[in-house]
Amino acid sequence: MLNRLLKLFNPTKTLSKMPTPKIIPASEHGLRRSQFSPNAIKVIEKLQEAGFSAFLVGGGVRDLLLGGQPKDFDVATNATPEETKNLFRNSMIIGRRFRIVHVRFGREIIEVTTFRAHHDQSLDPKDAAQSQTGMLLRDNVYGDIESDAARRDFSINALYYDPSTGNLFDYTNGLKDLKRRVLQMIGDPEARYKEDPVRMLRAVRFSAKLGFALTENTAEPIKRLAPLMSHVSSARLFEEVLKLMMSGSATSTLQLLREYGLFGALFPGTEQCLQLGDEKQLQFINQAALNTDKRIRQNKKVTPAFIYAAFLWLPLQAAIRKLVHDDKMSVADAVRHAEHGVISQQLTCTAIPKRFLIPMREIWALQLRLPRREGRKAFLLLEHPRFRAAYDFLLLREQSGEHLDGLGLWWTQFQDASEEQREAMVQQLGKPQQRRRKSRRRSNSNPPPPAST
Ligand code: ATP
Ligand code: MG
Repeated sequence: MLNRLLKLFNPTKTLSKMPTPKIIPASEHGLRRSQFSPNAIKVIEKLQEAGFSAFLVGGGVRDLLLGGQPKDFDVATNATPEETKNLFRNSMIIGRRFRIVHVRFGREIIEVTTFRAHHDQSLDPKDAAQSQTGMLLRDNVYGDIESDAARRDFSINALYYDPSTGNLFDYTNGLKDLKRRVLQMIGDPEARYKEDPVRMLRAVRFSAKLGFALTENTAEPIKRLAPLMSHVSSARLFEEVLKLMMSGSATSTLQLLREYGLFGALFPGTEQCLQLGDEKQLQFINQAALNTDKRIRQNKKVTPAFIYAAFLWLPLQAAIRKLVHDDKMSVADAVRHAEHGVISQQLTCTAIPKRFLIPMREIWALQLRLPRREGRKAFLLLEHPRFRAAYDFLLLREQSGEHLDGLGLWWTQFQDASEEQREAMVQQLGKPQQRRRKSRRRSNSNPPPPAST
């Protein structure tokens, strides 16, 4: 009852404009201009000199207030994309659904976004378009800073910092939410998720990355609205998957995605396998996320091809098993059919650009080749451009409980060995074992053992 009353009087329920900001001076919020990217400050100063207003906003401000290191810096301004572009030689307008300007300084890109307004303020379909479910198909209606604050996603992402005065402008109680470590959707959460279902993924991503809880009304609609994700373009979802999995918090992100019913919207085949409740399969996926987080902590390269190879491994194995056992298909045919089926299903949800699709398939194909080491094969495999990823994948399978007869250890030692030692290792696989291996080889031509065995 109390909750319902509170909801009725929730000041963030339907805000299309937020009139009076709290203005917090530097002495209170503690941010210093020197903490921001000098290039972002340059962009702001140039916009301000040209008579526009401009602020730092979003993750850059949020992460610095939390004592973290921002990944990038976003600028918000009342200059239109064209006006911004005219000010900076090193800039270009990008996006159609949501037009912004990228200002490039060497490897750093400063994203400059024009203040947006809610769509009731414009009717021109060139700038504003909405689908039947309320999704924003085009979001290029410009407004002022108040309307801009109202259209941002979470209150902690809507804090505006003016480097020329040091003031922080807070229209949405963002600073309070930052202190109580919660994610509060601005406005009516359900309507905001319908406008852009990706906001559900963002809720999970920030919750995992920052260790913030979702407020009750921000969390409540997610499970219900998760199917709306199917309206989002597969290309955009691919980008979101990368952000989710490569943020260094893939393990907790994965858990939250599943809790909120969002994982199935991104990887339906994988979720279907996990639903069967087999602990080993869950362990495999978790281990893939743990390894990804570890690599990111160690500043090692993480490739989307590996993440996709891991996530789709479960449905791939299930499909191969079914084709071989139920449909009596030959193993080679089953592998081909299963790959095609699993990839086609995945492409209906998220894109997989070719530059990742091909290496993903190579990682899979190498799982069948890694046990075959006799003669020159081991030496050739070592030269394969995808060997390292395939070897890591093999270790992942073993780490999550698959028994592969010490194959991972063999390959670890083979890589560390001198040329003579390598020859000896291959020799040792030699004749007596060769016979045993022959029969094993026959079983190796079976589908790679499922992660659950
Ligand atoms: P990070 O860059 O660390 O991932 P961020 O909050 O800066 O986090 P961006 O994607 O860079 O995220 O977006 C910048 C800002 O733009 C956000 O902080 C938010 O205010 C706003 N924003 C981004 N995406 C959306 C969205 N889908 N709906 C509403 N506002 C958004
Ligand atoms: Mg950002």
